[in-house]
Amino acid sequence: MTDCIFCKIVNKEIPGKIVYEDEHVLAFLDIKPVARGHTLVIPKKHATDIFELDDKSAEEILKVAKKVSTGILKSLGAAGINLLNANRKEAGQSVFHYHMHVIPRYTGDGMRVWPNSNYKESNLDEVADVIKKHI
Ligand code: 5GP
Ligand code: ZN
Repeated sequence: MTDCIFCKIVNKEIPGKIVYEDEHVLAFLDIKPVARGHTLVIPKKHATDIFELDDKSAEEILKVAKKVSTGILKSLGAAGINLLNANRKEAGQSVFHYHMHVIPRYTGDGMRVWPNSNYKESNLDEVADVIKKHI
């Protein structure tokens, strides 16, 4: 896609600090890391978000996220990893080429990652039923 910053990194039109590359997937450092080693894993083939992602890319992205996570644990001494992915602007997505964040967690880093709300679900059965019908 011509106007996509991540496609430009895939095509080497702009630089990226690449940590892993194969036929389907590229992994490179986030330009504004929230922690040492913060990496983005993307499909080489443009997809805006998870709703556009083909199954092959989806599989390969998780495999690479696993490789990168293991590498970060071994090389940087991270104590844990969060995998995060925002889909659509309402979910906080700001670059519209699918990407999985690999976020290293260090002991005592104090980062909070889980969405927080006062929401209380009154009927889990109904929610499960309605979702099931659309999968
Ligand atoms: P999102 O908010 O869509 O989940 O995450 C987009 C991420 O892409 C942000 O963490 C941001 O720092 C990163 N980013 C934006 N532009 C560039 C860029 O040109 N190069 C790299 N390496 N990362 C970028
Ligand atoms: Zn793209």
